[in-house]
Amino acid sequence: MISHTEENYLKALFSIASLKGEATVNEVSKQLSIKMPTVNSMMKRLAEKELVHYESYKPLKLTDKGTKRAALIIRKHRLTEMYLVEKMGFGWEEVHNIAEQIEHIQSPELFERMDKLLGYPKFDPHGSPIPDAEGNIVPDHFRKLADCREGDELILKAVQNSSHELLTFLNQRELHLGIHLRIDKTESFDQSMEISCDGKKQVLSAQVTDLLLVERRN
Ligand SMILES: [Zn+2]
Repeated sequence: MISHTEENYLKALFSIASLKGEATVNEVSKQLSIKMPTVNSMMKRLAEKELVHYESYKPLKLTDKGTKRAALIIRKHRLTEMYLVEKMGFGWEEVHNIAEQIEHIQSPELFERMDKLLGYPKFDPHGSPIPDAEGNIVPDHFRKLADCREGDELILKAVQNSSHELLTFLNQRELHLGIHLRIDKTESFDQSMEISCDGKKQVLSAQVTDLLLVERRN
């Protein structure tokens, strides 16, 4: 049996590792706002359960078993978010905290039915890929808006952070997934961007363009 707390550690390790391949105790400690000695003793516990490779002073890595376990928690989280938006009418800014709780429910049947009712979606409401029932996850090939250039014609595909603050900010500017946008100008001083979308111009700071994932429009 794995506790909710242990599941949250697995998820944190998975998300750090998906960006950099491995994680340190310090990074996990920061991400979860938990003190280092507590993280260390939890890592020992997860190593005993064969979920994490743990050796003092070495980077942390999930085992195959740990990776699958983390992906399945993320699957439950993302399916829940999709269900809340598609079937219950919640806004994309409202669903993350609810999904944080529902993801710990141990009922494969519940999530299989959710998946079926949704028509087996590949992405959640924030554009993140939903792992399949085996825990396989297909990586997306989206680029950060911040890495694109003047004149690029793009489609907004995902957000890298599903905080209420960012999503409310995007709502206020009518920026939602699927919207077409064009980079009119990049400010060399602070890398802010002037973009046009739906005939409207707006300026986005580098802090925002770093969190928006796009695909080129052909
Ligand atoms: Zn979420």
